[in-house]
Amino acid sequence: AKKLGRNTFQFYQPEMNDEAQERLRIESALRNALERNEFVLHYQPQVDLESGAIVGMEALLRWQHPELGMVPPARFIGLAEETGLIVPIGAWVLRTACLQARALQDAGFSGLRMAVNLSARQFAQPELVSTIAAVLEETGLPPAALELELTESLFMHDVAQGVHLLHELKSLGVALSIDDFGTGYSSLSYLRNFPIDVLKIDRSFVNDIATDADDAAIVVSVIALAHNLGLRVIAEGVESEEQLEFLRRHGCNEIQGYYFSRPVEAGAFQQMLQDGKQL
Ligand code: C2E
Ligand code: CA
Ligand code: CA
Ligand code: CA
Repeated sequence: AKKLGRNTFQFYQPEMNDEAQERLRIESALRNALERNEFVLHYQPQVDLESGAIVGMEALLRWQHPELGMVPPARFIGLAEETGLIVPIGAWVLRTACLQARALQDAGFSGLRMAVNLSARQFAQPELVSTIAAVLEETGLPPAALELELTESLFMHDVAQGVHLLHELKSLGVALSIDDFGTGYSSLSYLRNFPIDVLKIDRSFVNDIATDADDAAIVVSVIALAHNLGLRVIAEGVESEEQLEFLRRHGCNEIQGYYFSRPVEAGAFQQMLQDGKQL
C-alpha cells in the first residue's frame, strides 16, 4: 500500500496495466485537487453575429496538476463523474464562475451571460436547485446572467423528472441551454416540453458545414427549428471564416470557437473586453 494523500490509501496490484494505474493515480489526485486549489476555469467568449460583440462566455474547467501539468477535462471529467467527485467539483465551478461573472459586472461589463456546464451526476442531486440558488444569493449575480448547459443524455433515464427539474431551475430565473445538440437521443420530441432558451449546435456538425452538404443541411435545419421554437442558437467549434460566413448567412445568433478565441484565463478574458475585441 502506498500512502498518497492524507486519507487515501491506494493498493497497486501487479497485474494492473498502465491505464488502470493511471486511472487510480488520477482518481486519488482528483480527491485532493479541490483542497489544494489545483482547479482553474478558463473562459471562452460567445460572440453575437449581428453586433460582433462578446455577449457571454463559457466556463471551462482545467486542472493544474503539480506533476501532470495542465490536464484537460477529457482526461478527468469521466472519472470525476464515475466517482461522484464531479458534485463538489461542479459546485466549485458554479461558485467560481458566478464570482467571476459578478467581478466582470463590477468592472463595468454588464449584460454578459456566464455559461456553466452541468454534469449528469449534478443533475441527479436533490440539492442542485438550492445549491444554485445559494450561489446566486452569495455572489449577488442576477440569475439571468447565468446560463446552465445541459446535455440530452441527462434526460435518458427519467424524462418526466428531468422536465420537472428544468422547470425548477427555470423558476430561479437562470437561462438553460442544450449542449452538443444533435448528438443525443430524442432530440426533437422533448424540445416542445422543455423550458429551454438556447440550442448549442455541436462542433461535429459545424466542422464540415462549408464542404459537406449533409452537415450544412442539418445546421440550417437546426437554426430554423430553434428559431421556430423561439430559441437562440449558438454554434460551437467555429474555426474558420467560411464556417462563420455560412452561420451568419443562415441567421445563427452566436458563435463560439477558436476563430474568435480559445478559452483563456480570467485576466486575459477581461482584457479582451477592455480592448473591445469584436468579430
Ligand atoms: P463542451 O461543453 O462541448 O465544451 C466545448 C469544448 O470545445 C471545450 O473543450 C472547448 O475548449 C472546445 N472548443 C471550443 N472552441 C473550439 C474550436 O474552435 N475547435 C475545437 N477543436 N475545439 C473547441 P474543453 O475545454 O477541453 O472541454 C471538453 C469538455 O469537458 C466540455 O465539452 C465539457 O463536456 C467538459 N467540461 C469542461 N468543463 C466542465 C465543467 O466545468 N463541468 C462539466 N461537467 N464538464 C465540463
Ligand atoms: Ca458546454
Ligand atoms: Ca458543447
Ligand atoms: Ca462536447
